[in-house]
Amino acid sequence: MRQEFIGHGASRGTALGHARVRLPHVLDVVEEHVTEQAVPGEMQRLHTAIDSVRAEIHAMRERLHGALAHEVGEFLDLHTLLLDDPELLQGLDDLIRTGRYTADYALRLQRDRIAAVFQTMDDAYFRSRVDDIDQVIGRIHAALHRRDVGMHGVAGEILVTDNVAPAELAQLQAQGVLAIVTSAGSTLSHTAILARSLHMPLVVGAANVLQRVNDGDVLVVDGSNGLIVLEPGAADLRAYRARARDYARERKQLNRLRREPSRTLDGVDIKLYANAESREDVADAHALGAAGVGLYRTEFLFLQRHELPTEDEQFRAYRDVVLGMTGRMVTLRTLDLGADKADRTGLALRDEPNPALGLRGVRLSLARAGLLDTQLRAMLRASGYGALRILLPMICCREEIIAVRARLALAAQQLRDEGCEIAEHVPLGAMIEIPAAALALPTFIGDVDFLSIGTNDLVQYLLAADRNNDALGELYTPLHPAVIRLLRDVIRHARMHRKPVAVCGEIAGDTRFIALLLALGLEEFSLHPATLLEVRRTIRAHDLSALRAKAPRLLRARNREEIERWIARSGE
Ligand code: PEP
Ligand code: MG
Repeated sequence: MRQEFIGHGASRGTALGHARVRLPHVLDVVEEHVTEQAVPGEMQRLHTAIDSVRAEIHAMRERLHGALAHEVGEFLDLHTLLLDDPELLQGLDDLIRTGRYTADYALRLQRDRIAAVFQTMDDAYFRSRVDDIDQVIGRIHAALHRRDVGMHGVAGEILVTDNVAPAELAQLQAQGVLAIVTSAGSTLSHTAILARSLHMPLVVGAANVLQRVNDGDVLVVDGSNGLIVLEPGAADLRAYRARARDYARERKQLNRLRREPSRTLDGVDIKLYANAESREDVADAHALGAAGVGLYRTEFLFLQRHELPTEDEQFRAYRDVVLGMTGRMVTLRTLDLGADKADRTGLALRDEPNPALGLRGVRLSLARAGLLDTQLRAMLRASGYGALRILLPMICCREEIIAVRARLALAAQQLRDEGCEIAEHVPLGAMIEIPAAALALPTFIGDVDFLSIGTNDLVQYLLAADRNNDALGELYTPLHPAVIRLLRDVIRHARMHRKPVAVCGEIAGDTRFIALLLALGLEEFSLHPATLLEVRRTIRAHDLSALRAKAPRLLRARNREEIERWIARSGE
């Protein structure tokens, strides 16, 4: 029967296909027993499911190709190892045989047992293995409930699950998954950012989907408005086809803007930089006429690995971004691991009681001297190949900038002594994403060459609202008078001191916020290439002086409604 669900559109695009349901990793399974006679059948059911997961992982491994194949392959190999682990298998069999538990409950008990052992380990790397255990157990559990356990083909399917880790996305795309629907998640999470970069339609926060959708159900998903239709009727299919056509037509029209300037109606050129993480992003940024790369998140080099990338590896990656941009400015951000950006190198401290307020960003880099020096050396070496600047995440105070600047000078001197060709001057900038840095900007504006406002974090720290906590609903929003005022102050102060200032948080790539940011004085944006042309189109439709004249009314807004009303009228 036809049913509609509504979530938040996190990555645009539409898809029509069969659902594949992956149940949450934390198994919500009640204690159930089987009769003595049913024990062999229950064990057989479990082993069939395990075999099917093993075959599924093997098939995925075979299908991997391209730039991410190596990293994703390692991730899959690890899951195969866990799946074949005699302790895991033996433990499950014992639970069904001696406790007469259902296979589902045996999985749950075994998961909790193993997790308890891992969680007591001192080493953060080993503790992080619990995520893998959860994923493997989650897969077996999903396989237990598949109507056709032998169904391995996943190309053309829509994944319905509770949440997806950023690292899983590339793997899912390699499997041929068309779109993803999650019951949790946020449009500003790293998963959402990566989905946009992979052009994978994603709807997050769709309540009830996991309870109502079954494997094999037909779904239509729209990543723009967050609408999901289960068992679509004729009208839905017509609407889907129309949307897919509109989407293709819009892309064609937008493509005509590739070579056009990002110029307002009154002739002011706005700089559109790209946020880039992959080779494809860099190629897209260049092809779309981005002014440069405004944010290269280097943590993506550190994720999904068991050891740190070497200086040479980092150098090659940075150099390739610089070469890919053919002389346009490239902004490399030093490592920002921590909080929601977990990694396998054990660098981010997983047992911090409050990781968002913990040792992340530049704090971690300064605490691990070798780590920062290696990264700075790699970046400086890449500066010999084209325009490059360095951006520091999570700056809180002046001392951090001074400390990094000293290390940068030392690394530059060493490299020159070694005979390396490096740029004469590599600008050093600060992310403004901690409210203290925004408020104390006058104390360090003279110590930085440029600024980039990270609104994703600035909003969460200013409003004390976790960017990934769906329970907070509308509390996490850039549409708060405090955010508007702080943005205005930072932009004004930077411009007064003639320091380039950009916004590189997700709002810079969201057409709903462009008029607001222009009105506040912003002339540089850094956004994912996926929405660059839409933002360019929006900029070209606005008159900058008219918007600036309306800024005082925006700053007088007392709440979200009044800000939204201002936005709605900004084009008038
Ligand atoms: C931000 O916080 O706005 C930002 C761009 O950094 P990240 O999303 O990587 O934390
Ligand atoms: Mg940030």
